[in-house]
Amino acid sequence: MKIAFRNIKKNYGDAIAIEELSLEIADGELHFLLGPSGCGKTTALRILAGLETPTAGQIFFADREVTHLRAVERNVGMVFQNYALWPHMTVYKNIAYGLKIKKRSRAYIEQRVQEVLDLTQLQKFADRLPGQLSGGQQQRVALARALATTPNVLLLDEPLSNLDAKLRLEMRANLSEIHRRTKITTLYVTHDQKEALSMGTRITVMRAGQVCQTGSPKELYDHPADAFLAGFIGETNLLPAKITETRTDGWLRLECSLGQLNSRNNRGDTLTAGDKVLLSIRPEAIKVFSQSTDNQNKFTMLVDHLTYLGESEQLSLTPMTGDSDLQLKATLFNVSHLDIEVGKETNFYVDPHDLQVLPDMSNLDSET
Ligand code: ATP
Repeated sequence: MKIAFRNIKKNYGDAIAIEELSLEIADGELHFLLGPSGCGKTTALRILAGLETPTAGQIFFADREVTHLRAVERNVGMVFQNYALWPHMTVYKNIAYGLKIKKRSRAYIEQRVQEVLDLTQLQKFADRLPGQLSGGQQQRVALARALATTPNVLLLDEPLSNLDAKLRLEMRANLSEIHRRTKITTLYVTHDQKEALSMGTRITVMRAGQVCQTGSPKELYDHPADAFLAGFIGETNLLPAKITETRTDGWLRLECSLGQLNSRNNRGDTLTAGDKVLLSIRPEAIKVFSQSTDNQNKFTMLVDHLTYLGESEQLSLTPMTGDSDLQLKATLFNVSHLDIEVGKETNFYVDPHDLQVLPDMSNLDSET
């Protein structure tokens, strides 16, 4: 079922939890709501579930407005980070509970519980109590319980945050597979950008109660709308820069602490010569300059620090002289043939297509 937030606002007294949220999630989509702590993700999820009433705006399930329907009338399944299982009930009874409340027949309950036990690979734990299960298994019971009632929408609030790193990776794969098999429209809240990037087909990033950008992991990584997004989705180097020339053929020249650089103009007509911007350069976009090829955007830096990681090397680069605040992170691949040493002056370059020109955000607050 497709779902939509339309112009949702939520205040708690004077505090604004959600300033403006408009978002459509397609039928069968696994959609991520990603953002730093306090940006309004859980509030958005609770409004969708019917556990909070918005101060303004509407919620739609398919084409039906449900803004004023109670939670039980919306048929949503929810999984929280603390699982909230009944400790005195077996796995089987925990899963069957919602179906009993809905007064489904004994035969239906038996069949449906077996289906979700199967889906979540919990068959052999059906008679155990939650306290006799590992964290990952308890998490799967919470998911099985949410799926048992065949919800219109599945809402997951930081479902993996109580698991250790290895189990989190395993459960990411499990959740993706279960979504692929059930095709239930799912909204997944997390502050962990790696979780969203690795699992999401579409991600909405929120900041301070508002949507910053919605897109695929690749769109968000390659074309972040601003410096906050560039730094939040992956690592980046941000440099203040000034546009010195805009050309009609879609190219720009700009000036920054690395010198004069050429870049593709990814912001169209919004830029004119003299504008202050921020330049985002991903660590992997910095490459070692070679005389034999037509490398543009050359600059010289001192290798200040080097971490060898097998297939790659992470470098910290500082200028030879002058701007001592400038420090760039670079990630180099296939390093075995490169002559990189700490303390050595080295020529690097950035392909003009790998520069992202972003709006200057110096007038924004820095609360996140
Ligand atoms: P986290 O990742 O830390 O859970 P979040 O993005 O889910 O954060 P919310 O829990 O939605 O953020 O909270 C958004 C803002 O609304 C926060 O500033 C929070 O303090 C405030 N807030 C949330 N619930 C209430 C409440 N019941 N009363 C007052 N303020 C609230």
